[in-house]
Amino acid sequence: MKEKNNNNVKKKIYCSFCNKHKKEINKLIIGLYSCICDECINTFVKIIKKENKNKKKKNIKKYTPIQIKKKLDKYIIGQDEAKKILSVAVYNHYKKNKYIKKNKKEKIKIDKSNILLIGPTGSGKTLLAQTLSKIIKVPFIIADATTLTEAGYVGEDVENIIYRLLQSCNFNVKKAESGIIYIDEIDKISKKTENLSITRDVSGEGVQQSLLKIIEGTHALISPSGGRKHPDQELIKVDTSKILFILGGTFSGIKKIILKRTKKKNKLGFNKTYKSKKNKTKRNVLKEIITRDLIKFGFIPEFIGRIAIITVLKKLNKKDLIEILCKPKNSLIKQYKELFNMEKIKLKFSKRSIKEIAKQSISIKTGSRGLRLILEKILLNIMYEIPSKKNIEKILINKSVINKKSLPIIIRKKI
Ligand code: ADP
Repeated sequence: MKEKNNNNVKKKIYCSFCNKHKKEINKLIIGLYSCICDECINTFVKIIKKENKNKKKKNIKKYTPIQIKKKLDKYIIGQDEAKKILSVAVYNHYKKNKYIKKNKKEKIKIDKSNILLIGPTGSGKTLLAQTLSKIIKVPFIIADATTLTEAGYVGEDVENIIYRLLQSCNFNVKKAESGIIYIDEIDKISKKTENLSITRDVSGEGVQQSLLKIIEGTHALISPSGGRKHPDQELIKVDTSKILFILGGTFSGIKKIILKRTKKKNKLGFNKTYKSKKNKTKRNVLKEIITRDLIKFGFIPEFIGRIAIITVLKKLNKKDLIEILCKPKNSLIKQYKELFNMEKIKLKFSKRSIKEIAKQSISIKTGSRGLRLILEKILLNIMYEIPSKKNIEKILINKSVINKKSLPIIIRKKI
């Protein structure tokens, strides 16, 4: 073969890689010892480009905590402490996974650090978890703790969460193992929660026990078709110890537990600073949460033991909601403006109209979740009528439109 190649080079008529004759190709580049055709060059360029792309993808996880926080700032308003804590937690989690991969027999056992987010509805818990997964480009799914059941019951089996994560990344097990799972409404599986199901006797404690295993890290065996496993079916093995679990809930009622505990302390003479009325109003009770409070709330100690980081998100105020409407990279106002822009129409909101939307959202007590609802209602008629109208240049929304006292002002193009 070597001899044949040398002869080919001598004759300079064959590609040394694919052996095609120069008549079969467009160009043959002739070197000192070998020749290469244009087709082979194209193939090699494609291979190198793909490899470089994969390398880049792997590097994405190399953000520092400060870089992660800066990226989060672009999408999430306020919640500075939560963003900082999560940036560090995510950085450490993936650093630890890398360490385990390199040192198969870990010298020092580093515990898994799952995260608990506590905060009112619409404070950005889900958004935080989701944005993190987008920044570091890992698979992400949201599960609802209230739909989970103990193993053996009909309902969403805990293992189904892992199945959904696998599904989200085309059953690439390695990818799934580096993913993030956000479990919402985790407070609803406390022991004290009323029976989760009306038809079945599903206890919160039972669900906690089922979740415990996958959260602390196990080799879960997942049916490739989802649902029940069949005896002669090949199962997919997923190591859940590398998956980051972020749990979220409102934990209404936990303030009372914290206050009761800290009151006892005060009687014993600690934490006297809280005695003055002025301090009391400023006090953010939730921030004083300790694991004992969560156990009192109805969580089993083993479950709480798997949570290393607890972060509290604050209730968003009117100023925050105004910023949410306008500031983030993909803010609601920017999204609606873009929708109209697609039809070459300028959508303008007055400052007072934006303030009014925030005010109304606060009054219906849905936090940021109400913002979209209000905007959808206000813009529904316009979005319904505009596509069949011509020559519209601008639509102005002012405060009285939000208060349903007037209709949006429509400005037509001058023809
Ligand atoms: P939670 O999970 O705490 O109930 P979400 O994350 O689901 O709240 O928030 C609902 C929506 O409100 C988000 O999709 C986002 O549009 C907006 N939102 C909530 N909090 C923030 C925030 N801090 N910054 C920007 N947008 C937010």
